[in-house]
Amino acid sequence: MARYTGPVCRLCRREKMKLFLKGPKCDSMKCPIERRPYPPGQHGRGRVRNASEYQGQLREKQKARRIYGILEKQFYRYYTEAVRQQGITGENLLRLLELRLDNVAFRAGWGASRNQARQLVRHGHVTVNDKRVTIPSFRVRKGDVVAIGPKARDFIVIRHNLDTIDRQVVPWLERGQEGMAVTVRDLPLREHIDVPVREQLIVELYSK
Ligand code: SF4
Repeated sequence: MARYTGPVCRLCRREKMKLFLKGPKCDSMKCPIERRPYPPGQHGRGRVRNASEYQGQLREKQKARRIYGILEKQFYRYYTEAVRQQGITGENLLRLLELRLDNVAFRAGWGASRNQARQLVRHGHVTVNDKRVTIPSFRVRKGDVVAIGPKARDFIVIRHNLDTIDRQVVPWLERGQEGMAVTVRDLPLREHIDVPVREQLIVELYSK
């Protein structure tokens, strides 16, 4: 599936908040949001927009898409699937996004960002139940064991990420094999998904 390959810091600036798309740079003073906390472009600083209802809904949707690195078509497909499922549509949507394999690799702390985690998956360094899976959107299920492949366990980048980022593993995952594997203990609940998105607005946008 295609992905966005343009500059990512301007995506954060457009949302006027840190979306943490670049790993260590996001926590440093080099983060452009620190110096230019206004939208990108020639008129980013000057233009004052009236915050309409639609504007608010659109921004929430764009924010969610950008955090998970998904393009519109695929995101809409997640929405239609979330509608079909039982329960609250917004929560279903976020759960589907969380269960993506690239997100699980990010949550496990192997990638400094979702983009880096996605690359690990694409390059065949991640296994699910001992089988190599190279599809970032692959959906993990309860009970699945997601692990780093044997060759990649010595990768400096993975060891560095595990040692330095020290990311807290979310409650629905359980770490094992010295951090080189995680088991999906449960499906994620809304309170375990820490993305700053008001999912209800996304549902309102799409259900117009
Ligand atoms: Fe966003 Fe990170 Fe770039 Fe800062 S450094 S603007 S948080 S992607």
